[in-house]
Amino acid sequence: MSSQTKFSLPALLVIASGNAGKIREFSQLLEGYGLEIRPQPEGLDVEETGQTFAENARIKAIAVAKATGHWALADDSGLCVDALGGAPGVHSSRYADSDRARIQRLLGELQQVQITTDSESQRAEFVAALAISDPSGNVLIEVEGRCPGEILKSPRGEGGFGYDPVFLAPETGLTFAEMDQMQKAKLGHRGIACEKLIKQLRNMKIKGK
Ligand code: IMP
Repeated sequence: MSSQTKFSLPALLVIASGNAGKIREFSQLLEGYGLEIRPQPEGLDVEETGQTFAENARIKAIAVAKATGHWALADDSGLCVDALGGAPGVHSSRYADSDRARIQRLLGELQQVQITTDSESQRAEFVAALAISDPSGNVLIEVEGRCPGEILKSPRGEGGFGYDPVFLAPETGLTFAEMDQMQKAKLGHRGIACEKLIKQLRNMKIKGK
């Protein structure tokens, strides 16, 4: 990633999220592109009424871009666990009231399913759908990133956020919460989606010349 690269985007990009973990990851992933990254204004809460990650990302990007008058980048993401039929999926943030309670519920439900179905499957994937909207509500870019992994029986690691302590990236032997932030950002669903986003931003610049 060249630190000299600049886009023909407005200098300011609002991240349509109030989640500090996501803002931190985006700030790292988009560093060096001449963009000022700003979190959405406090108190701006957009209801996620979509049925898919992509739909929710569009809804959030449009709402925040219109409300702030700036380009907005939204991320709708979550954890999909095979043995739970893809749950918690788009309901990942609403699964319980805190990260700790969400993990507890996830492990409890997975244990129940494994007992009743005699299945040992712990396969899961993180998904991130990203959308960029301009202030008129035109969605200019939509991409998706997926990261396969496994759910551990108990949490490991202190870093990251959300379900990170129980999500093992098998090729590293580490949970997302045990990785340094840059490793997780690059390897994870958000980093994969961001790479696609950056390619499209580059194309926009070429087209706009
Ligand atoms: P939303 O996209 O704001 O609806 O929230 C997504 C939810 O999925 C977060 O609150 C987390 O619980 C979970 N999630 C999304 N991305 C990650 C991640 O990178 N690590 C851990 N949990 C995540």
